Amino acid sequence: MTSLDVEGFRTRLVEERRRVIKEIEYLHHENPGSLESESEERTLDNHLAETASVTLDREVDYSLEESANRQLTAIEDALLRIEDGTYGTCQRCGGPVGVERLEALPWATLCIEDKRKDERR
Ligand SMILES: [Zn+2]
Repeated sequence: MTSLDVEGFRTRLVEERRRVIKEIEYLHHENPGSLESESEERTLDNHLAETASVTLDREVDYSLEESANRQLTAIEDALLRIEDGTYGTCQRCGGPVGVERLEALPWATLCIEDKRKDERR
């Protein structure tokens, strides 16, 4: 039994999922994954610093994409938990995650106590 507004969270999660998918598409668009332009630049006599900064930008974008992907997985997991009725339940202790926490982070899987224990590790 739950007093959570599960439908409200479902709506938010679906919206978040749409936003994250767009973000991933955008990052893909920015980074088609081709190294062509980069190797072209390397054959020109570019100074190394410039090449290094291009590489760094790419790494930043890749990690953005990685974190967007991770968030997408978390959102989809949360939607699955809504389906099977375990949404809002701490995956470690089985207690409630807490409404305030879910409002801040609708895909949270741990109650604040367990989350804190995690962070202390
Ligand atoms: Zn817990």
